[in-house]
Amino acid sequence: MIRRIGLLCSGGDAPGMNACIRAVVRSAIDAKIEVIGFYNGYEGLIHNTFCMLRSETVSGWSARGGTLLKTARSAAFKTPQGRLKAIQTLQLHNLQGLIILGGDGSFKGAQALLNEHAIAVIGIPCTIDNDLNGTDYTIGFDTALNTAVEAIDRIRDTAESHDRIFLIELMGRDSGQLALHAALSGGAEAILVPELKNDFEQLVARMQNWRSSKSSKIIIVGEGDEHGGALNIANQLKSIFPALEFRVSVLGHIQRGGVPSAIERINAHVLGVYAIKQLLAGQTRIMVGLKNQSPCCIDLSEAVKRKPELNSVLIETFNCISQ
Ligand code: ADP
Repeated sequence: MIRRIGLLCSGGDAPGMNACIRAVVRSAIDAKIEVIGFYNGYEGLIHNTFCMLRSETVSGWSARGGTLLKTARSAAFKTPQGRLKAIQTLQLHNLQGLIILGGDGSFKGAQALLNEHAIAVIGIPCTIDNDLNGTDYTIGFDTALNTAVEAIDRIRDTAESHDRIFLIELMGRDSGQLALHAALSGGAEAILVPELKNDFEQLVARMQNWRSSKSSKIIIVGEGDEHGGALNIANQLKSIFPALEFRVSVLGHIQRGGVPSAIERINAHVLGVYAIKQLLAGQTRIMVGLKNQSPCCIDLSEAVKRKPELNSVLIETFNCISQ
C-alpha cells in the first residue's frame, strides 16, 4: 500500500516542471498519498532537506518557469556512500515511492539507486533537449522551442536589414532536436547538428552560391556539433570565405527559463497524473512519456539507452525548403 512518496527535480531545470509537480501532488493527494518534496535534486535526499507538498502549496505553480523545488547536480549521488545517505533518508520518511523529474543523467542515477534499494521509482522526462528514448516529448521542449524561434525571428530582422549571415547557437549537448525544430520553424537557411554527417561540407558547398547573393542567411548550430560552437564555426567559414561577414549569437540560458507554454502545461499535467496512476498500478523502474499524443511507459534502462533519432520527415522538409 502506497501512503507516502517523495518527489524531486534533478539536473537542468525545464519550464513545465512546476506544472508537473502540481499534477503529481494533486493526484497523489486525491489517492490519499502524502508527498514530500526534496530540494535540490539528489542533494536534498542526501541532506534530508524537504518540504511537505500539499494541495495549497502548489497553487498557481502551473504558470511558473524553472522549478520551485529547486534542482541541482549531485556529485555525491554518483558515489555509493552518497546513495547510502539518500537511502537512509528514504527509510527515515518511510517512503514507498519516488517520482523523479529530470533527464537521462537523473534516470541513470535512479537506476543506480534502484540497484541498492527497493522502492517504486517513476521518472518524468524533463529537459528542453527532448533527447530521451521512447517518448516523443519531454517537458520543457515546447517552451524552449518557442523561445528559440522568437529569438531567430528577432535576429532575422537585423540580418535582413544588414544583409548579414548570422550563426545562432542553440542548446543541446548531444542532441540536435531543438536546433532542427527551431531551424524549420524559424525559416533558417542551414543547420549544423551532431546527428547530421557531412553537414559542414554541404554547407560550404552551398555557400559558394551565397558569395554573390546580397541577402540575409541564418545558420542554426546545435551546441553539440562536432565542428565546435557557433563562434568556432564562424571562424572556420571566415577563413574559407574571407569576403563574407559573419555574426554570431549564442542564445544560452535564455532558452531554459520562462513561462511555460500552454502545450507544456497541458502535457506536464497529463504526465504528472499518469505517473501517479502508474505508481498505483504497481509500476516501477519506468519513465512515463508521450507517444502519438498518448501517455505511455518506458523502461528506465530503455529511456537512457540511446538518443532518439531526428525525425526524418522534419529533416526532409527542412532540406526541401531551405535550398
Ligand atoms: P539530466 O538529468 O538533466 O541529464 P545530469 O546529467 O546532470 O542531468 O544528471 C543529474 C544528476 O543525476 C547528476 O548530478 C547525478 O547526481 C545523477 N547521476 C547522473 N548519472 C549518474 C550515475 N551514472 N550514477 C548515479 N547518479 C547519476
